[in-house]
Amino acid sequence: MIKTLKDLDLKDKKVLVRVDFNTPLSDGKVADDSRIRAALPTIKYLIKHNATIILMSHLGRPKGQVKDDYRLEPVAVHLSKLLGKDIRYIQSDGPISPKQIEFANSAPKGSITLLENTRFDAGEKKNDPEMAKILASYADVFVNDAFGTAHRAHASTEGVAHLLPSAAGLLLEKEIEILSKLIQNPEKPFKVIIGGAKVSDKIGVIAKLLPIADEILIGGAMAYSFFKAAGGQVGNSLVEDDKLDLANELIKKASEQNTKIILPIDSACATEIKSDVEVKIYPSEQIPDGWMGLDIGPEAIKTFKNSLKDAKTILWNGPMGVSEVAPFDKGTKAVAETVSELDGFTVIGGGDSVAAINKLGFADKIDHVSTGGGASLELLEGKTLPGVKALEF
Ligand code: ADP
Ligand code: MG
Repeated sequence: MIKTLKDLDLKDKKVLVRVDFNTPLSDGKVADDSRIRAALPTIKYLIKHNATIILMSHLGRPKGQVKDDYRLEPVAVHLSKLLGKDIRYIQSDGPISPKQIEFANSAPKGSITLLENTRFDAGEKKNDPEMAKILASYADVFVNDAFGTAHRAHASTEGVAHLLPSAAGLLLEKEIEILSKLIQNPEKPFKVIIGGAKVSDKIGVIAKLLPIADEILIGGAMAYSFFKAAGGQVGNSLVEDDKLDLANELIKKASEQNTKIILPIDSACATEIKSDVEVKIYPSEQIPDGWMGLDIGPEAIKTFKNSLKDAKTILWNGPMGVSEVAPFDKGTKAVAETVSELDGFTVIGGGDSVAAINKLGFADKIDHVSTGGGASLELLEGKTLPGVKALEF
């Protein structure tokens, strides 16, 4: 059991909140604000309880250095618009720099402050106790609402939680509740769609879900490791040669457990990854040399759609092809459309799959769009996330 907002005495307290504002920026502006919006319920809850709020987040990979392109200023501007309130922000040399310390400590009652990028400080990723101590000194209580980084033990997620009365925010609570229910008690038939680049990223989840799911549909580059493992010809498709044994093992386990693994029968192939290139459809186990499978093919789309029709629960993680380059986004689009039209309970996780569903404008039709890529996978594998463990009773 973890502590939640209701377990904290918040009235007139200074509350330090770790959020996940790791959003894409373009031209100095927030390009996709879904993660910021996802944090609003907790922020609004704290405003209602008259808390003085100190927000902190990482953004991108500044590698422990101060870099102007990774400042949280555009996020402060955007958040201020969303809330219709002032957000205190100051450019500084990081979240525990002298200027930042003074700024955080002079926060007026009821104000909202956003600290500078936590990853400007090398102590963040090292879970440096000194950094955690300074962050903790800003407030009376700590709330972690950053599901997207809950699988990392960093100073602003794990370290600080041990130093203050701490609890999960509303987003973190919801993510854990929904994703844990999927692996404990999904309504059947439960169908899982897995795609993306690497078998190695997702093998843990597939293994965990084999005894729980009724069917597992595999697309993306991952599929070619399965075809190659079974003796197929996959041309120049992306394959992880050191994972072929694992792929065979999964197929064997699946048949022992009466879970169907469905692979894409055909593939949209090309010799290069670019938009205006000749595309040919080949059976996925007969792709000629020089050609790469870059998307699931039209027959595979039909099979996948057909399989999903009767699902009562669906989990989707990972695109079906190189979805960022048309025309290799057809399979991902078709699956996105199918999933968004289903009556069953639908959950999507994974950075690239969520980006695809947002781009298509289907996010509203999905029951739960997870804000965590790696974090959602680790939770589904049944692992305890360090950022969450630190909040246990
Ligand atoms: P997610 O972020 O949704 O978990 P991943 O990061 O695992 O997804 O995978 C997304 C990446 O996989 C994209 O960059 C996409 O181009 C790549 N990808 C998907 N299918 C293929 C393929 N057939 N060949 C090469 N790359 C692929
Ligand atoms: Mg990704």
